[in-house]
Amino acid sequence: MRKGRCYPSLINKMLSIGIIGLPNVGKSTLFNALIKGRKAEAKNYPFCTIEPNVGMVEVPDERLSKIASISNSKKIIPTAIEFVDIAGLVAGASKGAGLGNKFLSHIREVDAIVQVVRLFEDKDIHHVSGRIDMKDDIEIINTELILADLDTIEKRLSQTKRTAKNTSDKEAKIELSLLEKFKEALENGKLTRTIDITPEGEKVANGLHLLTRKPMIFAVNCDEENLSKEISFKGIGEEDDIFIKISAKLEQELIDLSDKEAKEYLNELGIGQTGLDKLITASYKILDLITFITSGEPETRAWTIKKNTTAQFAAGAIHTDFIKGFIKAEVADYKDFIEYNGWVGLKEKGKVRLEGKEYIVQDGDICFFHVKT
Ligand code: GDP
Repeated sequence: MRKGRCYPSLINKMLSIGIIGLPNVGKSTLFNALIKGRKAEAKNYPFCTIEPNVGMVEVPDERLSKIASISNSKKIIPTAIEFVDIAGLVAGASKGAGLGNKFLSHIREVDAIVQVVRLFEDKDIHHVSGRIDMKDDIEIINTELILADLDTIEKRLSQTKRTAKNTSDKEAKIELSLLEKFKEALENGKLTRTIDITPEGEKVANGLHLLTRKPMIFAVNCDEENLSKEISFKGIGEEDDIFIKISAKLEQELIDLSDKEAKEYLNELGIGQTGLDKLITASYKILDLITFITSGEPETRAWTIKKNTTAQFAAGAIHTDFIKGFIKAEVADYKDFIEYNGWVGLKEKGKVRLEGKEYIVQDGDICFFHVKT
């Protein structure tokens, strides 16, 4: 492979999720629970960042232990994503208040955002607005993101206007119309991720690194008793926004319990999956990622690829040389792998599929790649 060449859909950095929210909503509590309770071992992941506010977290996947037990694997290596604790945002951050621009540049670097919103009541823990109001809190945060993006757009607009006027450059014209569309949306309080744009515009938009275009999930930090209750988030955020109820305090307590004790405790509370696991899984999904698996005696391992990646490039997730050397892939879906008791049983029954380089790898596919070395 030529050095420095960039292959489409190959992920060559650990994807990261920034945790943001107003002060005292439980961000750090949540971040600490994540990195203590779900910490991934750095040595398995070549692209990880080592910084105090960055934690690498395993993506829970129940399929792995079942596959590993069939293959008699010595090790299980789940896939991982990074969470970044981004220190408190206050109203006025886009104009430099609080940590101001530093805060905003940290958000610019992450691939998606988890916005923690406080629903728990505790008179000893001060809320910046003096009352619990999720809609209000989200508006304060979103306003700061909108103002920061308006600033980015306005700076870029004056330059693009000049280029578009002086040349017949088609790209400058596309950029100009996109910037004007975004500016109008932001001025009306809309997030740019809610605006439909053309595929050509999408390329330009990616280059702008706008904060309001990043995928976002809301982690609603509630009291334990609200976890098993139905809570409506209608009228808060955008129509298809994802809200995950979580109790950062409970998650912190669960870390010190054994798996069995934690399960029993959750059952008592009427909760199945923990909020942390739900949050990690949703964060992984919102990045448009899927998992394929390799499995044998040495290890069962999950690999991350973007949705719609071909077999040839999926092989590149294991080693970039596999892209050039790709010959074919043996593929089984998860259900068959379990039903026919692994590779041997699958082969006996003729259930292994042979796929070529154009095959689109599906979530949960178990793959064995044949490559020329
Ligand atoms: P941050 O400023 O958003 O990072 O908030 P912290 O995680 O530092 O939490 C602020 C305070 O709220 C701390 O004293 C936490 O122990 C407390 N806290 C966090 N989550 C919860 C929760 O779910 N319930 C209650 N009652 N307190 C919480």
